[in-house]
Amino acid sequence: MSMQYNLIKCSCGFSFGSTKSKNNYCTKCGSTSNLKLIERFEDADKLARAISFANIPDEISDELILKIKKKESKNKIAKINNEKNLGGLSVLKKATDKDGNLTKSFLDKYLSDEGLIESSSEYLIGQAEVQGFLIRVDENTWNWLS
Ligand SMILES: [Zn+2]
Repeated sequence: MSMQYNLIKCSCGFSFGSTKSKNNYCTKCGSTSNLKLIERFEDADKLARAISFANIPDEISDELILKIKKKESKNKIAKINNEKNLGGLSVLKKATDKDGNLTKSFLDKYLSDEGLIESSSEYLIGQAEVQGFLIRVDENTWNWLS
């Protein structure tokens, strides 16, 4: 079975990745309608990049995308993302099981066990999705793209 990597855009402006073309919902606003399949990718790397670009705020996107595309500097954007998200991502990594699956219910449990009550699992997963680190594989489970 070959995996599909879909870039989905919600009418609220949020873009995310999914392995399904149907039955998705927006992690940001919760909408199940108003979702548009923008593009289908063959591999996870390409999707991860597309998600990062799609979620760069409009005001900085034009200049930034031009610069990045020119240099094809994948490492640079990864570095920016890493610095911004180091805290959240390391929590997500720790809550990922040995098969590479991250479930929301386990993350909730991990956060409360660690006393990280200020971080919500929705927020952490949402942030990682925005930056193309995670892809939803079913309602409660995410896998790592990068
Ligand atoms: Zn939305």
